[in-house]
Formats: sequence, C-alpha cells, structure tokens
Amino acid sequence: MANVVVVGSQWGDEGKGKIVDWLSERADVVVRFQGGHNAGHTLVIDEVSYKLSLLPSGVVRPGKLGVIGNGVVLDPHALVAEIGRLAAQGVSVTPENLRIAENCTLILSVHRELDQKRESSNSGTKIGTTGRGIGPAYEDKVGRRAIRLMDLAEPSILPAKIERLLAHHNALRRGLGQPEVAVETLLEELTSVADKVLPFMDVTWRLLDQRRRAGDRILFEGAQGALLDIDHGTYPFVTSSNTVSGQAATGSGLGPGAIGYVLGITKAYTTRVGEGPFPTELTDEIGDFLGTQGHEFGTVTGRKRRCGWFDAVLVRQTVQVSGIDGIALTKLDVLDGLDEIKICVKYLLDGKEIDHLPASQADQARVVPVYETLEGWQGTTRGARSWADLPAQAVKYVRHVEELIGAPVAMLSTSPEREDTILVQDPFRD
Ligand code: GDP
Repeated sequence: MANVVVVGSQWGDEGKGKIVDWLSERADVVVRFQGGHNAGHTLVIDEVSYKLSLLPSGVVRPGKLGVIGNGVVLDPHALVAEIGRLAAQGVSVTPENLRIAENCTLILSVHRELDQKRESSNSGTKIGTTGRGIGPAYEDKVGRRAIRLMDLAEPSILPAKIERLLAHHNALRRGLGQPEVAVETLLEELTSVADKVLPFMDVTWRLLDQRRRAGDRILFEGAQGALLDIDHGTYPFVTSSNTVSGQAATGSGLGPGAIGYVLGITKAYTTRVGEGPFPTELTDEIGDFLGTQGHEFGTVTGRKRRCGWFDAVLVRQTVQVSGIDGIALTKLDVLDGLDEIKICVKYLLDGKEIDHLPASQADQARVVPVYETLEGWQGTTRGARSWADLPAQAVKYVRHVEELIGAPVAMLSTSPEREDTILVQDPFRD
C-alpha cells in the first residue's frame, strides 16, 4: 500500500487544496505534519466552499480520520474557532474524526504578539510572516520551554512551565518595550480552552502505526512549499518548519518507510508571497496578467502574490531535495492566451552558468535567469480532462517541464473544478 505525501514544490500556493481534496477522497487518514494555522486551503465539495487553515482536509468528508501530528504548532483558540466555523457549515469535527498528537507544541498569545511586533518593527529583516505566532512557537519548541498539548491535562505542573516560558518572553518583551505578562494571564488563556481541545488528544504515532498496519491509506498533507523549508529554502525568507517530504515522517512519528509516493504540487508558473529572492519575477504586464488570470491573492492574508515564469531550476532542485516521484501540474489554464511562454532553464551567477539556486543569500539575489522561449497556444486548456483536449503547444510545454525537472506529471489540473484534472498516474497505486 502506498501512502502519499503531498508537498508544494515552489513557494507554496501551488493549488495543493484541490489536489489534496482529490486524494483525500481516496485516503482513510489525512495527516498534517508541519506548520500551523497559516496554511489556508479552500476546498469546494458539492459546490460548498470550505476554508481550512489548521485542520487536515479529510475532516470535511464523512468516514475519514484527520490527524494533527507532533510536527504542527497548534493554536488551541484558532482550532476551536475553525471547528466552530465548520460546524456552522454543517461539518461536525469530533474525536471520531480528529486526533491531535499529545506532544504537539502550542501557540500562545505571547507568540502572536512577538511575531507581529517583529514584523512591524523598522529594524531587521522582514520575513513576511502571517503574524500568527508560528515562528516564535517553533523557537520555544527548540528552546525546550514550549507548552505542549499534554501539559493542559496536568494542571498541577502547568503554572511552573508557564513561569519558565515567561522568564524568557518577559525578558524579550521588556527589550521590545511591551508590558510583561503574568503567569495567571497565560494560565487562564490555556485553562479556558483545555476542555475543548483535550478530548482530541491521542498517542497519534501509535494510532498511525496501527492504521498503517491495518492497510489504511494515509495521506500526509504538507503546507507551504519546499522553497520555504527552514533548511532547504531561501533562508531567511522561509517558514519556521521543514516543509520537504522527509518531515512527513518526523512530524507524524512514522518511519520514512511509511512513505510510498511523494507528489509535488507544482504551478505552471511561479508565485511568491512576501519578501525574498525570486529570480523569474515579472514586474511587467505579463506578471499582472498571471496574477489576474490566476487570482493570485492569499487565502489567509489576502496579500497580492508576486508572479513570474516557471523556474525549472528551482523545481528540479526541490524534486531532488524532497524526493518527488511525480508532480501535479496546476493552473496550466492561466497561461492560455499568451503569445509566448518562457521557462527558466539555468542561471548566470557573475556571468558563470549554474544549475541550481545557491544557498548564499547574496548569490540568490544576484542570479540571472536564462530562459528558453516556447510558443504559446491558441485555444484553451481550461477544463481539459484528457490529453486530447489540450492544444499541441500546451502538451509540448508540459513535456518540456517534465524533461527539465526530471519528474513526470502524475496529474494535470486545468481549472479550480475538481473534475477538471487529467490523471496520468495514481499516487495511491495499489
Ligand atoms: P494551496 O495553498 O497550495 O492550496 O493553494 P491556494 O489555495 O492558495 O491556491 C489555489 C487556488 O487556485 C484556489 O483558488 C483554487 O481554486 C485554484 N486552482 C487550483 N488548481 C487550479 C487550476 O488548475 N486552474 C485554476 N485556474 N485555478 C486553480
């Protein structure tokens, strides 16, 4: 049985929502393994649109189990709010269909405030975070002072843990000119929500092992994209977790052998939100065209995304770093109507050809993309459901992408509609 990991192969927003939804219908268990409530998938099922930030996509479908793994940082109040929003849409989230790792790190108000204070300060580097406290929560996890979900079940030792955490945060807050926080304040913040989240707590690594042994299909749902990975991305303009496929194992507590297939969601062009290097960025009318045609505005933040040509150098790199077996190429239809389409095939760094994005921030800012130009296509790819529906030039574009990145197209998405998908290879192959 092949369990599937879905990861973004660019800077996120590749259209994972639609593909994850398509796959989650075929899965028994859907697992989040990194990130927090900054994800932002829109699922459209029977014409009803559901917005999910933290919950695994499976929860909107009856009979599926959603798991929030230990690699996720969990804002308990955001969780309760998201469950409430789904309840208003008639979707019931209970311990029957959602389990959360007992060792999941919690996001607290001090994290959110620190995140926002840093992003709004005029000094230092703006990372372009969503201001939800995710980065500071991961910092505390690594600093070994985080409050974890299981701590809510131990009221006798929770105050001491909070005190330890606040010794660090209050020092920071004093430095940033923010008022100090009292232990009682955080204690109240946590105890007020404990009863609502503790019923979901479980030993999820064991549960997943059992489900795996029972032959269930597990879908690991990645958030963001490989170029935002804390190690492999465009540091420091990255997210605060590992977003590559290997994290599916560590962030859920299953060994790497549990992963059968890695599907990289790949947009037919490139976008990026916030700051950081973007070699193929277009600031001209073609960039505007891609943004308008592709509705490139953030689901969570509403921020306008930067747009540019497809960068085969970057995707080839993430195919390798993430062990991508096949890609789901999305939003091909956004390229409809262009006379010519460019693909970045290599970079020049100080006049020298290179085949990858260097790790140095200074070099990343200096690389110059080298393009190949392909003819655009007459007619439309939008809504195509078979190769025969695609214009010949569009097929040529897809084939060239495959060749350049070194991975086959397993799925091709030609509109936001679920059915407008060409399946080449089923990632859940039996
Ligand atoms: P995610 O975070 O990776 O799920 O990506 P987003 O949700 O930010 O972006 C997906 C957006 O693109 C959603 O509005 C989808 O409905 C839309 N979308 C997904 N696939 C396609 C496609 O093939 N064509 C078009 N035009 N839109 C798509």
